[in-house]
Amino acid sequence: MTARPLLLLDVDGPLNPYAARLPRPRGYTTTRLHPATWLARQTPGSRSHRRGLRVRLNPAHGAQLTALPYELAWATTWMHEANEMIAPVVGLPADLPVIEWPELFARDPDGLYWKTRPLLKWAAGRPFAWVDDMITARDTAYVAAHHDAPALLLRIHPRRGLRASDFATLTRWAASH
Ligand SMILES: [Mg+2]
Repeated sequence: MTARPLLLLDVDGPLNPYAARLPRPRGYTTTRLHPATWLARQTPGSRSHRRGLRVRLNPAHGAQLTALPYELAWATTWMHEANEMIAPVVGLPADLPVIEWPELFARDPDGLYWKTRPLLKWAAGRPFAWVDDMITARDTAYVAAHHDAPALLLRIHPRRGLRASDFATLTRWAASH
């Protein structure tokens, strides 16, 4: 049996197109959620603190993601709250593995995205695809130099979220490895 590559999922950007021009893009639902990391940055008692964070999610994405030949895992500041709050809305299992970041938004000495080093460590040499809106060319170069297995870093525009072309790219990449 061949082990499947990992698919490491960011929430804000790929699943929640937070920069979308429309309040509710086609196929998406809008919910208000209270994730801990976001709440910690709001003024207690403020209107936004009470109302919660507006999140756009596509209920079709769960089935599309689980149909891909990957093992899914969360790579998001939502951490375990992705299983609790995001998974039920998009239709993903609520027990996906979660990357627990040692420090959120940590400054990287070499200008890497703060997720890159802990994510590589977590992947522990396994092939992976990673979808995130903050990946840069620097991260792609770093992963190519420091990860011995194949890796696909796929930057997703936060205005659009995951699109059919991204699912096609992920399918092709998994087939080619
Ligand atoms: Mg993001």
